[in-house]
Parts: sequence; C-alpha cells; structure tokens
Amino acid sequence: MDIKKKIEEVEKEDKQINSFVSFDVEGVSRKNISSEGKLSSLVVGIKSNINVEGLVVSAGSKTLEDYVSPYDASVVGRIKKEGGRIMGMLNMDEFACGSSGESSFFGATDNPKSPGHITGGSSSGSAAAVAAGFVDVSLGTDTGGSIRNPASHCGIVGFKPTYGVVSRYGLIDLAMSLDQIGPLARDVKSASILLEAIAGHDHRDETSLELDQGFYRFSENLDPNVKNMKLGYAREFDELIQDKGIKKIIHKALDKLGSEGAEIVDVSLPNLEIALPTYYLNVFVEFFSATRKYDGRRYGYKIEDVCGEEVLRRILLGKYISKEEYRGRYYRKALMARSIIRKELSDALSGVDVLISPTVPKLPHKIGSDIKDPLVMYAYDVFTVPVNLAGIPAGSVPAGEVEGIPTGLQVIGDALNDQAVLNVMAGFEKCR
Ligand code: GLN
Repeated sequence: MDIKKKIEEVEKEDKQINSFVSFDVEGVSRKNISSEGKLSSLVVGIKSNINVEGLVVSAGSKTLEDYVSPYDASVVGRIKKEGGRIMGMLNMDEFACGSSGESSFFGATDNPKSPGHITGGSSSGSAAAVAAGFVDVSLGTDTGGSIRNPASHCGIVGFKPTYGVVSRYGLIDLAMSLDQIGPLARDVKSASILLEAIAGHDHRDETSLELDQGFYRFSENLDPNVKNMKLGYAREFDELIQDKGIKKIIHKALDKLGSEGAEIVDVSLPNLEIALPTYYLNVFVEFFSATRKYDGRRYGYKIEDVCGEEVLRRILLGKYISKEEYRGRYYRKALMARSIIRKELSDALSGVDVLISPTVPKLPHKIGSDIKDPLVMYAYDVFTVPVNLAGIPAGSVPAGEVEGIPTGLQVIGDALNDQAVLNVMAGFEKCR
C-alpha cells in the first residue's frame, strides 16, 4: 500500500492509542532510500530518542519539542540503505526514564492488546505501533528493559543485543554504559531481519564491536530447534514473580520446551535482588551527566525548567550521588555490585546455552493509576536490568495471557550469544 495512504489511516486509529508523536507525512525520511534491500517491503517506526534527519526528535520531552535533527543515527542510515520506509517518530517515556510509557510529555500510550492498561516502557510507542499493526517493525532502546518490558505487555517480540553489537551513534542517551538499540516485531524472524540491518561495526561509536561477518546473519542462521539445548532457570525467579498467573505461564513454557527435547537445568542467582538498586544508582549518575548539555543554550529549554517529575528526580539524585562520590559512598559501591551481578550471570550461563525467565514480575497497571512510590514502578524491571548490567543479550517472546493480558518469556544469553537467544525464542514461538 502507498505509505501516504497508510499514514492517513493510522493517524485516525492512533488517536486512541497515541503510539506516534509525529508522522512523516511529507516523506522527509523516505527521500533517498534504496528501492531494494533487506527491509524494502517493510514500514518502520522509530523511537523518538533516535536521530532521523529532518524530523523532530523530542525524546518524549518538552525540552526537545522543537529539535529538528540535522543528521541520521547510524541505525537510521542503515535502515534507509536497506530500503525500510520510516512512518514517523514513536512515543516514549521522557528521556527513556520509565517502565510504563506514562511519563511522556505527549501523554501515555494505550495498550492495543489490553486497552486501558499501560503498554510498559520506555519504548511504549514502539511496542504499541507494532502490536496495533501500524508498522511492521520498530526500533526501541533498552537501558534496563525498555524493549523487553513493553514487548511483554503488548504481546510482541523484542530483543536487546549484546552491548556493542548495534551502534549507539545518534542515540540520545539515558545511561551510555547500558543503552542498546534493538528491534521490536510481531515475530522472531522479522526482529532478526531488522537486527541484521542495523547491527555491525561503526567507527563513529567507540564501544561498537567489530565481529566476523557470519555473526551478523541473524535471520539466515535462525534455527528453532531446541532439542538437547540446556536451558537454565534460576530458583530465585519464582520468589520474585508477583503474579500467580505469570508464574503458571512461565512454568508451562518450561514444560513445553522440555517436551520439545530441551533440558531444563536448575541454576542460582543469589544476588538477583541487588540488581535493581545497582542499576538505578548507575543510571542516576550517568543520566545526570548526560543531561548537562540541556542547559537551554544549544537545544530547546533548560531541562530542569520543563521536565517531568521522574526526570527531575533522577537529575537531583544523580547530582547528589556524584557529589558524595569523593567519599566513595554510592557510585563506587554500585560499580562493585555491578561486577558481582555480571559474574553471577556469567557463572550461571557457563553450564547452559541460555537462561529462561519471566520478562516482568507483574501485569501492567491501568493507565493513570496513582503510583506514588517510584519503587513500585522500578519493580517492573527486576528481571530485565541484570542483563544490561552485564551487557549480555536477551529477548522477550509472547508466552501467554493472564485474563486477556499478554505476558512474555525472557531468554538470556552470554555475551555475543545473540543467535542462541534468537533461536530459543524462535523455538518457543513455534511450540507454544
Ligand atoms: N525502566 C527502566 C528505567 O526507568 C529502564 C528504562 C530503559 O530501558 N530505557 O530506567
């Protein structure tokens, strides 16, 4: 279908869902795109914290509401080169700070699979636009779960690659040592195709890895056979699941994978519960530093003058923690805790092919529920943040529904084992 017509249709339907912040009606981003390539038949949505030349890249904030990007992020350049057609910029929690999609300056996004509930965040629009069928695939970013968490709540697939597999050049960072860009899609194959298009070494990103060409053939190498694979499940996961329905679905999934010939191995992650405070301490400090450029001189407004409550909380806490740092009070301890978590995950993964876990511990709340305690919001991320702290790959694939609300299964792999994660996701998608 002609994309302009499709945009007109989606614009109407999206009034209810609010997955897009803006549509590229004029086709600014579709001007010089290739007519062939891996993505030539696909319509793509881009999270609003990734630069697309000529479009407003707001990061879900009033701070950047008028910022028209002068350049393409590396991932966007690659999408254009592969013929992907960009539909517009997607809604998100302000500066990617959030787990629900409600902190966007442009309003919350409704969950197409369970209307009235949050989509999860921070890539709220990226998940909703895919779940509603507005786009074929989308880009999200994941600092502590922002691709996997909304993928889980919206009943779609989301994947966070190993740190360094996808270039971060042109991404408005939340916490640069944790952020990764990744795909959201309705199935694992499409997610693998988009990943294949955007992954690869980039000399403009110092942390970008240079790997053998064979590593990047994610869709070609996709193999859903889980027979004889060793899948680890940590006993601590069960203690942290807050919803009985989710626990049931995850154990059913394990049984199903077992009946397909996979071996389920009991593993342990004794320090899992320190992952959340460790993550948030790291994020506050890195985010505080990242926001110092929004002083109102170069871009838009001074961030503290216009931002929402959650962003302000993080800036103030980051400032305080940085100040206390000469006494090594918090940040240095958080870095030590990060090494412990990384080591524990690496040990747990050493005897298995991948780990299996729930993606989220609880079901999405109703939009606008008055959540006063930030810790209640942060709790959504308990199973996703350890992965970012360790820099390893993980994805979420739909596992089932609790009273009509979707929930996902998370597959976690060792560093650079992205293919094994995608394979097990595809294997589960096939047998579930
Ligand atoms: N919910 C987490 C946070 O608020 C993760 C965000 C993300 O991955 N961008 O920091």
